[in-house]
Amino acid sequence: MNWEPDDETELDRESDFIDNGETDVVPCPACGSMIYEDAEQCPSCGEYVIQPSRKPSLLATVVIVTLILALLVMTLAI
Ligand SMILES: [Zn+2]
Repeated sequence: MNWEPDDETELDRESDFIDNGETDVVPCPACGSMIYEDAEQCPSCGEYVIQPSRKPSLLATVVIVTLILALLVMTLAI
């Protein structure tokens, strides 16, 4: 096997994702297995994983608050 470290063959290394620090993996809260950060379900124990967003959806929160405030203002204006 002639491995070239500089070769970005991530597809070939997909099975090594546990040891691959470049891939975003997080420990399963149920069994501790390293799973993909965006995985919805742990492939090891089958537990559904709800990961908190890496970045809090601040934009969504602002939009929702703005909509609520707008509704409030409209309601008060009537
Ligand atoms: Zn698990």
